[in-house]
Amino acid sequence: MRSANYSTLGFLLLVLGVSIIIKSDSAFYSDKYGFNIDLTEYKYLFGFLLSALGMGFLRTSMGYDPEKEHDENEAFICLQCRVPICRRDAPDLKCKECGRDLESVKGFFERHPELKEKN
Ligand SMILES: [Zn+2]
Repeated sequence: MRSANYSTLGFLLLVLGVSIIIKSDSAFYSDKYGFNIDLTEYKYLFGFLLSALGMGFLRTSMGYDPEKEHDENEAFICLQCRVPICRRDAPDLKCKECGRDLESVKGFFERHPELKEKN
């Protein structure tokens, strides 16, 4: 659901940005609230920024996650063997020794306080 929301938001921003660039009249005004904003002078700037933002969201929704690049160094540990390992060295998150699922070291001792006592 998260990626679907990103792609919807990205698409809307992209459409809005492009429409601002394409529209000849970029003045927004409201008699009711008494404001009158003329974006004609800045429409390329606004349009470009919105489009770029939309593209960024779309890119994120398609699997590009900037945080993932840092996760390569995230430490995992095998509950059975107690061997710490980087995500980079275990892409499937399975222990190389026993094949069990690895757990993230982050918050490990919060989840397993009994292990902390032994160490
Ligand atoms: Zn193991």
